Amino acid sequence: MIEIESNVNLKQLNTMALASIAEYYCAVHSVAELTEAIDFAQREALALHILGEGSNTLPVSHVSGLSCRVALKGIEIVQDSQDTVILRVASGENWHQLVAHTVNNRWWGIENLALIPGAVGAAPVQNIGAYGVEIADVLLAVEVFDLQTLTQRTLSKAECELSYRESTFKGNDRGRFVILQVLLELSKIAKPVLSYAGLSELAVLADREALSASRVAERVIELRSAKLPNPTELPNSGSYFKNPIVARSVADSLLENFPQAPHWVVGQEVKFAAAWLMDQCGFRGTELAGGFQPYHLQALVMTNPKGGSYRDLLRAETEVIRTVASRFGITLEREPQLLG
Ligand SMILES: Cc1cc2nc3c(=O)[nH]c(=O)nc-3n(C[C@H](O)[C@H](O)[C@H](O)COP(=O)(O)OP(=O)(O)OC[C@H]3O[C@@H](n4cnc5c(N)ncnc54)[C@H](O)[C@@H]3O)c2cc1C
Repeated sequence: MIEIESNVNLKQLNTMALASIAEYYCAVHSVAELTEAIDFAQREALALHILGEGSNTLPVSHVSGLSCRVALKGIEIVQDSQDTVILRVASGENWHQLVAHTVNNRWWGIENLALIPGAVGAAPVQNIGAYGVEIADVLLAVEVFDLQTLTQRTLSKAECELSYRESTFKGNDRGRFVILQVLLELSKIAKPVLSYAGLSELAVLADREALSASRVAERVIELRSAKLPNPTELPNSGSYFKNPIVARSVADSLLENFPQAPHWVVGQEVKFAAAWLMDQCGFRGTELAGGFQPYHLQALVMTNPKGGSYRDLLRAETEVIRTVASRFGITLEREPQLLG
């Protein structure tokens, strides 16, 4: 029997440390326990909310329904060939510990994604990415529990519809699937991705075949630790806004006035750096409603040093979105998901 608690404070269960009361809360460690949680929610006519480690989740002040943390564990090799290895990883495994496990085994593919907080099951939800790599680059499939049909099934990578910080789990199929397992294909042959500033210096080692996946991961950890606040010391949810992607015509008129704006062409569209837009509006390090503060080293990271509330956060967010929109004509979009 799973333990279902009522009136649980979620403050320790979201890295923004928002105080929030969940009507009901449970953690599930197996599909059988998940089924019990689903039965309970159905019986009591409750909404079911799925949680990983809460590093990309902003709970509202009172979350009605059953908040359910998915805590399935296990890493298994399902195929081991000369050049590749296929892993089946349970959704409750910690992502960074998985990266550590893979680089220790000299497998390549997710070393650039070291130190991203959160659980493995949440990784496909927003197609986590950093330093030129996304989980889409190594994902083969995900095994899910379909809350519509109450059956388990496998979704191919194509069915996950992964794109920049997006997937079907955040889009058309939001709330439909509980991710149980993730299948990843990693390489035993060196495949370093060193294009990102700060990693390119490792190319010398790559040329001499002296570079390991763990060396790349170590460098990523150094770079991230130098510019991102540790949520256990300074509450935050990582990047608060997505880098906006706009039509060429919008980009052209913006670049006419701000030719120095950092941007990247993505197919027919253009992506701008949200942090730069916020910097130009003077938000970096500025205290907003409730003490929320865009981090002084990286404006995109909204921090919560004074224990601000969800309501304060929305006020802070609105101020940033309105100011950036009136200066640049671009509407920033929040990256973390609301809970409740
Ligand atoms: C300091 C910091 C740095 C960060 N850096 C990055 C970065 O570089 N790149 C990046 O992409 N992200 C980054 N993030 C965001 C975050 O780490 C990722 O989005 C991570 O995948 C969230 O994992 P989680 O377990 O905490 O998810 P949660 O916050 O618990 O959940 C996020 C969403 O996924 C859903 N979900 C969770 N588990 C499951 C499941 N098993 N089945 C179905 N749905 C599920 C939830 O319902 C929710 O909608 C950062 C966050 C922080 C705090």
